[in-house]
Amino acid sequence: MKPYFKKVLVANRGEIAVRVLRSCREMGIATVAVCSEADRRAMHAEMADEVVEIGPAPPLESYLRSEKILEAAARTGAEAIHPGYGFLAENADFAAACSEAGVVFIGPDAAVIAKMGEKTAARSIMEEAGVPVVPGALIPAPDRAGKLDPDQVRAAAEQVGFPVMVKAAFGGGGKGMRLVQSADEIVSAAAAAAREALKAFGNGTVYLEKYLQRPRHVEFQVFGDTHGNAVHLRERECSIQRRHQKIIEETPSPVLTEDLREKMGAAAVAATQAVGYVGAGTVEFLLGEDLGFYFLEMNTRLQVEHPVTELVTGLDLVRAQIAVAAGQPLPWTQEEIRGRGHAIECRLYAEDPLHDFRPALGEILLLREPQGPGIRIDSGVRQGDEVSMYYDPLIAKLSVHAANRPAAIDRAIAALRSYAVLGVTTNAEYLIEILDHTEFREGNTHTGFLPEFFDGWQPPASGDLNAALAAAGVNELVSAGRGWSNGAEVADRVVAAGPWQRLGRFRLHGLG
Ligand code: ADP
Repeated sequence: MKPYFKKVLVANRGEIAVRVLRSCREMGIATVAVCSEADRRAMHAEMADEVVEIGPAPPLESYLRSEKILEAAARTGAEAIHPGYGFLAENADFAAACSEAGVVFIGPDAAVIAKMGEKTAARSIMEEAGVPVVPGALIPAPDRAGKLDPDQVRAAAEQVGFPVMVKAAFGGGGKGMRLVQSADEIVSAAAAAAREALKAFGNGTVYLEKYLQRPRHVEFQVFGDTHGNAVHLRERECSIQRRHQKIIEETPSPVLTEDLREKMGAAAVAATQAVGYVGAGTVEFLLGEDLGFYFLEMNTRLQVEHPVTELVTGLDLVRAQIAVAAGQPLPWTQEEIRGRGHAIECRLYAEDPLHDFRPALGEILLLREPQGPGIRIDSGVRQGDEVSMYYDPLIAKLSVHAANRPAAIDRAIAALRSYAVLGVTTNAEYLIEILDHTEFREGNTHTGFLPEFFDGWQPPASGDLNAALAAAGVNELVSAGRGWSNGAEVADRVVAAGPWQRLGRFRLHGLG
């Protein structure tokens, strides 16, 4: 059996780079980080054994430059590259360039990435494999002038039946997607989606899907190896989405029976085998109110929300990714994969709910993370770091594990309440109110949950400066003078920072 790699390069930044570095360290693998000029002192760069600077802050000039990353791998003698998620993780050309350079890309084959990146191609592969897909119709690609044929658009929509969802064939991140209620809007909506898709993905091909009412987003973690084995690691429900972006994920899904889990799991494994998938992947389904399920897409990377799966299964997905990339068989059989308890992940962002959730840029003056049994924090920032305009404003993924769903919800809320972030506004209060909502507590989640219950949501007004600082632990730190050597200074700077928006989740009045 081939041993693991001696040295791995992590082609990413932030919490996911840190996450991957941790597993490498546990496995005794030497690590190389890459960083932009802005990230020289970032947590991931400081954690790796070696670091190579690859360019200026904008991702296009650093983290997205495959030739720079391959150069760094060659220079440091890294045998494999872990792409994390985002950036180059689902870039088939990069995966191919890695193999050409003789470096192992920790992920599936370039050809598989390309196939699954084209949603229309993925849909037909799944249909052939007997996996149910959302009913839909193709629209011929736009002509050279970028125009769709209106007659064909209308015909496709009629075939599917309204309401329909217009989607970009090469889409992702919720871009190029449009809900259309009636025939009079379809032509202009498809044209607009095609323009958006061309701009965002370099390809304006769009297709139609039947719009499902109040579905749940239920995805299966899958894994394949080079020996022909494929398994699933149960589901994650990710129905709590803002603009089609997940913000709270959990496992198990509140509605899956063991029987349905088995059926959906079998479909997910069939999907994995249909493409000869190697490594960690996610098969996404929409689950209808009638509990019918339909393939949505396959993501060919480690997913943001993988910690909840790790918490309930007790398995390390990054370790398994590395082992499988090194040619080893999957470390577990389907029967060995069990779920215990309930896990919930919340994405804590530096963003301002009062201003359309725009990123809250600036220095994190104070950061105190919650602790306790069943709490896991995946973060790539520390106190004193800057939330910059160039990168995702994620502060941390807070995941909790408890014996059952109600206990996990309580644990997540308590952890968020004691999460102190000062200097930048966060969405903590928003997350707390979602978790504490009666419908969420009852498990009545669907992808329209946030639009239905939290449209126009505003943070509750509460307290005065002293109360807020006390709640954040600043007063306590200042008066006790322990733990935080910069407590007094931070308190001064927080006050000097002025408007209450700057005070984390605390809404304060009367500050000039
Ligand atoms: P992206 O790759 O851009 O994230 P997805 O196809 O994964 O797009 O869809 C993202 C989300 O959009 C889904 O989780 C769901 O909330 C919503 N959605 C997508 N397709 C449909 C559909 N046919 N009916 C209802 N909702 C949909």
